[in-house]
Amino acid sequence: MYIFLKNVFFAADKKHTMKKILFPLFLLFFSLGVDAQKQRDFSKYEHKHAFHKPWIGNNKFLTDYMDKIGYENQTLPLYSVPVKFYVFGKNNAPDIQDVKETVQNLNALYAENNTLISFYVSDVKFIRKKKFDKFGYYVQFPFQSFLRHDRKALNVFLVSKLTKPGKKNKNLEYTGVCNNVNHTVVVSSKNDASVIAHEVGHYFLLKHPHKNYDKGKRRQEAVDRDVFRGGLFVRGRNSEICGDGLSDTYAQPHLIKNTDRNCNYLSPELTDIRGKKYTPQVDNIMSYTMGKQCRRRFTKMQKAVMLYTVSKKKNADLWQLKSTFADKFEPDFSPLTATVLKDKILQEHNFHKTVFKKNKIEDEDVDFMRFTIGKKVNVENSRIVISGQAALKAEIFVSENDELKSLKEISKNKDERTEISLQGFVTGSYVIKISQTQKTSENNVTVSYSITLDLDKGENNIIKKE
Ligand SMILES: [Zn+2]
Repeated sequence: MYIFLKNVFFAADKKHTMKKILFPLFLLFFSLGVDAQKQRDFSKYEHKHAFHKPWIGNNKFLTDYMDKIGYENQTLPLYSVPVKFYVFGKNNAPDIQDVKETVQNLNALYAENNTLISFYVSDVKFIRKKKFDKFGYYVQFPFQSFLRHDRKALNVFLVSKLTKPGKKNKNLEYTGVCNNVNHTVVVSSKNDASVIAHEVGHYFLLKHPHKNYDKGKRRQEAVDRDVFRGGLFVRGRNSEICGDGLSDTYAQPHLIKNTDRNCNYLSPELTDIRGKKYTPQVDNIMSYTMGKQCRRRFTKMQKAVMLYTVSKKKNADLWQLKSTFADKFEPDFSPLTATVLKDKILQEHNFHKTVFKKNKIEDEDVDFMRFTIGKKVNVENSRIVISGQAALKAEIFVSENDELKSLKEISKNKDERTEISLQGFVTGSYVIKISQTQKTSENNVTVSYSITLDLDKGENNIIKKE
């Protein structure tokens, strides 16, 4: 502009020919053209936008973050997030098995997608009241989620039925929702694994890929990734601002109306507001596909949002796993949730750090396992074999009428192998409690061990001989 004015005045002063006036006009035109091109150079929008998460309009923030944590070279979780469960209801209420399944489903999908985030049950509370048999979406959930909230954990409410009032909703059951304010998650039990994974995705600030798809040109995510969107507070690629704000989750309509139960997209003619046809992903965990089992995938940007969000949580430093994966047989933190030891099947366990109140890190992780001795077992030759890195104490209890009676205790040093003879054990149900006897070092918070039940069943030996 300055050059233009200078040239105009220069031209006017010296009363030069028309050519001299046309030249600066040409310059102005040219500079406008450059400006229009610059608008498509999205790198100029790579900065933090006021009032928005740092990745909105700037997905490069996420790719940079993934590079920073060396995502491509990581195969083991970086975080193990404690989950506090609140189980609501009296009749047909979810039980401890449902708690286990929920956290195992969550771990399964987060591990399959290499999110580098794992979960363990830190506590379970049962609220056994009839009024919670049908758990209200609009009133009971928000109210209870403020009443019962552990700020040091991911709070998950488990209910048998989640309902909305009104005739229209009478026969509808909702599978889950995440409270936008305190990020408590509620899910109904016995759902597809994607239900808990989806709601926990919201806990980590993921949005639906179809967000605002029907809210007009400005708010709809364009199919084309490089459509520019201007604005007062955020400017950049439409695909990084609209929808879920992530460019690697494609634009999509509301998939529940546009997919079948077998995960097929049914609307090949459906277009975005600019006339481009949708070719949506139908396997994204944050989508609303008709078949919930279709939802199995998080994209890299989604993983980046979750990893960045977890790193900013208040207790992130306590949740960091500096060595290996938290116990894959979790949650075996109580006799009720003990994992079952099956004959001659090796189980691998880890001790991982446990978060207690007052931000203290403790090594008091304990694992519980249970096993039964049937009539055909020859206890004289039966045993339990424990080996591996961890120094530990194993205590065996007999389980009678819901009470545990201590029978035997044995200790093992670091890297030692030990055997517990089952000589004298009668037919019945037993529980083993395993606790750590040596604290792990500051930086190495998990140590592993393996355990095998080795029963001598006379008849099996005979079959083997045949
Ligand atoms: Zn959702």
